Amino acid sequence: MTFEFQRSVFQEEHEAFRRGVRAFLEAEVVPQYSKWEEDGYTPREIWRRAGEVGLLGTSIAEEYGGSGGDFKFDAIVLEELGRLNLAAPAWDMHAYIVAPFLTHFGTGEQKRHWLPRMVEGSVISAIGLTEPNAGSDLADIRTRAKREGNGYRIDGSKIFITNGIIADLVLLAAKTSLELGAKGVSLFLVDTKTPGFRRGRKLKKVGNHAQDTAELFFYDMQVPADALLGENENQGWMQLMHGLAQERMVVAVRSMAMARSAFDTTLEHVRNRVAFGKPIASFQNTRFKLAEIETDIDVGQPFVDRCIASLAEDRLSPEMAAKAKLWTTELADRVLDECVQLHGGYGYMWEYPVARAWADARVHRIYAGTNEIMKQIISRNYLDRERQR
Ligand SMILES: Cc1cc2nc3c(=O)[nH]c(=O)nc-3n(C[C@H](O)[C@H](O)[C@H](O)COP(=O)(O)OP(=O)(O)OC[C@H]3O[C@@H](n4cnc5c(N)ncnc54)[C@H](O)[C@@H]3O)c2cc1C
Repeated sequence: MTFEFQRSVFQEEHEAFRRGVRAFLEAEVVPQYSKWEEDGYTPREIWRRAGEVGLLGTSIAEEYGGSGGDFKFDAIVLEELGRLNLAAPAWDMHAYIVAPFLTHFGTGEQKRHWLPRMVEGSVISAIGLTEPNAGSDLADIRTRAKREGNGYRIDGSKIFITNGIIADLVLLAAKTSLELGAKGVSLFLVDTKTPGFRRGRKLKKVGNHAQDTAELFFYDMQVPADALLGENENQGWMQLMHGLAQERMVVAVRSMAMARSAFDTTLEHVRNRVAFGKPIASFQNTRFKLAEIETDIDVGQPFVDRCIASLAEDRLSPEMAAKAKLWTTELADRVLDECVQLHGGYGYMWEYPVARAWADARVHRIYAGTNEIMKQIISRNYLDRERQR
């Protein structure tokens, strides 16, 4: 008797939610996606619609307008976006990366002000960490927030900011105490209407064309004291270490879904495409490549599922999140590259989902912390463990 593993991380309530998400994406996102790719950003109306159907508040508490679920519901949305190769709208950045910072560290007033608007999609959010001179080395950011009057004066700039062009709210990292290095970082909730806030170029990217990515500038930008996330200054590094683990899982879940989707599409393609009088699927090379891909996905999925379950219970360590991000993004890149190859010239045409997925997924190894930084996180305690023996 053969036995196929059934995923056990999701229950019927999640699968019912998945069916709704899938129907919504197929009806309201897929038909417009090519237009958004040409525009280079997504319109506000689709954010509102996502809010109406409950995609933006899956894990936000009911008192702030959300559904009060956990990361498993977020993962469902991410898997469906990944399955359909939809890199935009960047709801993941907004609802599953920025919003949890507010949930975990925001004051009551900050949550009451921002979360309901984020859930309904009337406020679009972004996170501003990376600077022209500091990406992997976040401790070296130069954006400065100086106490002045009843608030802070912020000067500096950011680069590569997802949703930077369309955002109403930017969760911004700035140094409040220069002498403390990484420990002198604080996070601020910046309303993009604040005088002194300026958007720069909408950057042209290799993939993710429907998602805007921008430069941001702050010059003599005065924010009120209560724009500081939480009650105290210099908590930013701790807040980031907590929040970035979730960001890494967001990327991991999407990467797995994209790999699985590429496998399915490619299987279909090689069954139908004929060369030398036979379906491409009949060549041993094709079958072996697909066998390797399917094995990698089937072996990896249970690990990712365990991480999803741990994160849903707020028990996932930064090291495990880093492992998930490192492994799944390398897998997705490898799989997508093979799938493009098995599509031949069609695999290089933008109208083919596999081509778009290949270009879109490449950045997964770079953002949310590069994969080299993931290896640093995973290995940083090796020396301590050795000493403790
Ligand atoms: C499409 C896109 C969207 C993004 N969205 C956002 C966003 O919304 N918000 C945001 O804040 N940022 C965002 N980023 C920025 C992203 O997080 C950074 O690009 C990333 O962290 C790498 O930083 P960097 O580009 O400065 O590269 P660098 O830090 O200059 O790294 C260059 C290379 O050096 C390697 N390297 C660096 N340090 C080490 C080390 N100690 N050991 C070994 N190797 C090392 C890196 O791994 C990399 O291979 C986005 C980037 C892209 C491309």
